[in-house]
Amino acid sequence: MSTLVPPHGSRTLKPLLLEGKALGEEIAKAGSLKKVPMTSRETSDLIMMGIGAFTPLSGFMGYDDWKRCCDSYQLPSAKNLFWPIPITLSAEPWLADSVKIGEEVALWDTETDALMGTMKVSEKYVIDKEHECKQVFRTTDPKHPGVQKVMEQAPVNLAGPAKVVSESYYPEMFKGIYQRPVEARKLFEERGWTTVAALQLRNPMHGSHAYLAWIAIEVCDGVYIHQLVGKLKEGDIPAEVRVRAIDALVNKYFRKERVIQGGYPMEMRYAGPREALLHAVFRQNYGCSHLIVGRDHAGVGDYYGPFDAQKIFFEIPPDALVLKPLPLDWTFYCYECGAMASMKTCPHESKAVIDENGQYKGGARLMLSGTLLRKLMSEGKPVPSEFSKPEVIAILKAYYDTLEQKVEIKLHGHATGEAKK
Ligand SMILES: [Zn+2]
Repeated sequence: MSTLVPPHGSRTLKPLLLEGKALGEEIAKAGSLKKVPMTSRETSDLIMMGIGAFTPLSGFMGYDDWKRCCDSYQLPSAKNLFWPIPITLSAEPWLADSVKIGEEVALWDTETDALMGTMKVSEKYVIDKEHECKQVFRTTDPKHPGVQKVMEQAPVNLAGPAKVVSESYYPEMFKGIYQRPVEARKLFEERGWTTVAALQLRNPMHGSHAYLAWIAIEVCDGVYIHQLVGKLKEGDIPAEVRVRAIDALVNKYFRKERVIQGGYPMEMRYAGPREALLHAVFRQNYGCSHLIVGRDHAGVGDYYGPFDAQKIFFEIPPDALVLKPLPLDWTFYCYECGAMASMKTCPHESKAVIDENGQYKGGARLMLSGTLLRKLMSEGKPVPSEFSKPEVIAILKAYYDTLEQKVEIKLHGHATGEAKK
């Protein structure tokens, strides 16, 4: 019997993805159904339901669940089960008007122009979007990327039980890294793990992330390095490059039997504390007993205090989740301590100075900015090994070099006038 944590609010995972004969039949039936286009966020949420990562949700939420989820983290339709962020589907009014209650519709991904699932519409309703934003994002600022998506979504919500027929390009494009909760659980069980800490990553894994992973291994059986392979912002490093960099780090600096890497398809909302709670819900579904919550988890800009995402775990009811947070302070390398350290352990407050040639010039805490890091790499100058291991730097540098070659080619195209044709 599994000794892992149970899925959220359920004894078993509840994936909505169909298989075998049922899958073929549903796809055939969908051909005659009205198409409801989904935003990229809605598509990624549907896939999360498909793979059971959003267990026990059975489809997109109705009004009562939306309202109570916003106001008190509860789903009335599931005995007031804890749930931190509404999972909803929007539609234009003309389309919503044309759909009858009880009618089945085809859920369509506009980005790939593909059928993703079907839903039996049980409810149509209009929400107060500003209210949702205030509750979920703690702001209605239209510049916040999560707020922007809610404000831009179509005005009517459609709810109902869904069936999922596709995981889109994820299994193929992210082969070897994309994982469903059932697969992650199997890997944990094969290693005999009971306690597993999830390390959320959406950027390359540097020294401070490695430090968090080592701490997690000290207190749990293993660490699950869980990367976002969903949509990225421009300028972010592609998942494939990040995966290779993590492999390089794990192969040389970790006990391999204590680390598993995986990827998940959810789009970031940048909802800070609320999103940390959603990350906790689906990590529990993946079989993790702990979630590492560092500084400004799932935040963007300066909308959230650096430790709001840790505090919120102590504001929700104690029985809301089986998974527990592993709150860790801001971590860095300290030249005075001569070790990795955190704000909680290190008494040396000065910042380390690294000059334009990558040379250490004095000071204590090393917090290398992304801009300086990229400048050093593009100029072939050394990056302090205290910040990131040479194996990681080499992989990132190779990636940036290919980008620069592309930029050069493009500039050349402009110079010859080819770009205008
Ligand atoms: Zn120190």
